[in-house]
This record gives sequence, C-alpha cells and structure tokens, in this order.
Amino acid sequence: MDAKTPAAADDTWTTRRLLRWMIDHLEKRGVDSPRLSAEMLLAAAFGVERLELYMDPERPASEAERARLRDSVKRVAAHEPVQFVVGEAWFFSRPFHVSPATLVPRPETERLVEEAISFLRERGSEDTTAGAAGADSDAGRSGAALRVLDLCTGTGCIAISLALAKGVRAEVIATDIVPAALELAKRNAERHGAENIEFRFGDLYDALDGASGGEFDLITANPPYVTDAEWPELPPNVRDYEPAISLRGGADGLDLVRRVVDGAAARLRPGGLLLVEIGHRHRAPALELVARAPGFAGAEVLVDHEGVDRVLRAAKA
Ligand code: GLN
Repeated sequence: MDAKTPAAADDTWTTRRLLRWMIDHLEKRGVDSPRLSAEMLLAAAFGVERLELYMDPERPASEAERARLRDSVKRVAAHEPVQFVVGEAWFFSRPFHVSPATLVPRPETERLVEEAISFLRERGSEDTTAGAAGADSDAGRSGAALRVLDLCTGTGCIAISLALAKGVRAEVIATDIVPAALELAKRNAERHGAENIEFRFGDLYDALDGASGGEFDLITANPPYVTDAEWPELPPNVRDYEPAISLRGGADGLDLVRRVVDGAAARLRPGGLLLVEIGHRHRAPALELVARAPGFAGAEVLVDHEGVDRVLRAAKA
C-alpha cells in the first residue's frame, strides 16, 4: 500500500484521524459522497451506527479494525459500491441486505413507495362494505387485505416497505427472474418480519402462473430501463458492479417497461393502480405506452425528490 495508509503513521489512528484520511483518499479517487462512504466503512469496521462515530472521535482503532478498513477503502476507491462492501443499504428508513445479484436500493425509488402507500391507505379506507364489526375472520373485518404485485423485486425493498407500511393491510406477491435476488429478498423479508409476502420466481407476469386470479389493487415495478446509448455513460460504481440484467432495458430502455404496462390492466381490479419507475427521458414514451394499452383511465408521470421525471402512475378504468 502507499505511504498514506494508516499503518505507515506513528500517531494513534483515532476515529477523527481515520475519517479525515479516508475522506481525502476517496475524494482523490473521484468516489461519490466521500464523507458518507467513509463514515459507512468506519461504522461497519467498528460495528456501530454511523452517528455513533461522532460521540467518540478520539476512539483509537485496533490493528484488526485498521486491516479491515484498508481492505474496504481499497475496494471503494476502485468504485465498488460502498453498500456492497458493508453488505447493506438503507431504504425507506430500514436497512436491507444487498448483494451483486441485484440493484442497490436508491433514494429516488422511495418516491414510488410513498405514492403506493398513499394509494393503499386511501383504497383501504374506502372499502368499508364488509361492515361486520366484531367479526374476527379477515373477510368480516372492514376492508379485506389489499393485493399487491411487485415485479422485478430485487432486494425486495419496495415489496417489504409496502407490506410493513402503517395503516395498510396488504398481501404482497413479489417476483424476480434472478434466483439469487429472490433469496436475498426473502432474507430481507425475514429480517424485517414481513410475513405477508409471497415470493415467486419468473419472467414478469409469467411468475404468477395463472394462479393470481388476475385481481390486484396495485402493481409496482422498478424494471431495468437504461438505454443502450446511456449504458457506457453510467458511473463506474453502477456499470461495473451492479448487474446489467437489473439496469439495461434495450435500445430505447423500454423493453421491460413496455411488457409491464401491456400486462397490467388485465391483472388490476377496477380502480387499481400501476406504478413503474422509469428513466428521466421516458416521460413521453411511457405515457404513450399507457395511451395505447387498453383498460387504463389515464396516466401521469411523477417527479422524484430531485425534480426528475421518475414514476409512471397509470390508473385502471
Ligand atoms: N436509476 C438507476 C440508475 O441509472 C437505474 C435503475 C433501473 O434501471 N431500474 O442508476
């Protein structure tokens, strides 16, 4: 290793000093968010939460902790996503296991989850028809569970966030075509005690195998949507480390979005909703896909927290 590594210094390597060194090193290597990355690596090496680092800035690191840090800093300096190095990512206020089998959950996807939860709350509160107050069977309670289908579930971050959302009673089916992603999603569901999710392997709607009855209140998906032209321009932490199958959507980026939209209306209940994450240049073509597919009452595209077009919202008639 080069002369700037912790081992080469004489003074004690405290939290303060390690952070300064790591931030400087990651910055020079052009890594995004060098401070956040450094904090995540140090917290993982010490086995503490990130904010706890600042409670004891003079804590000295042991030889074993420094060895672990040297290795992890090297990986992140080579643009491996810091979430893969520490093994988890936060999404919608929960930690999720991550692996190179699927995408790292991204903050822009939280926009889709917020919209989904407000739809489910509203729809759940509308259904007061069953009425049998005091009955203890599910069917007798006001508002039976809403049915949600999450396609391309990956880490399961959308499915799990919806399954556990407060004020929502949902039964979720989550699908993926990558077996290792489904295994990861199951581990995440177990981690968070989300028992109301059924995981199914398969290519989009094929995973349902006709067994769904075609009656969902909500369909969500964060499919791959990067175009062939955008692919070489992606930052190295994405292009070189996250799986192409989770990112690339063909020449126009819409290969999977098109199939998701085309199959949705037939599987939604009247008044049901489709929410799909889309690329920042896909507003017009995504709306066009909905306009051409029969069965929808209308559609719009919602912007994420950065003001970027991000979520296609299509309502079934
Ligand atoms: N927003 C992601 C990216 O470009 C792409 C996610 C996706 O294809 N679903 O990094």
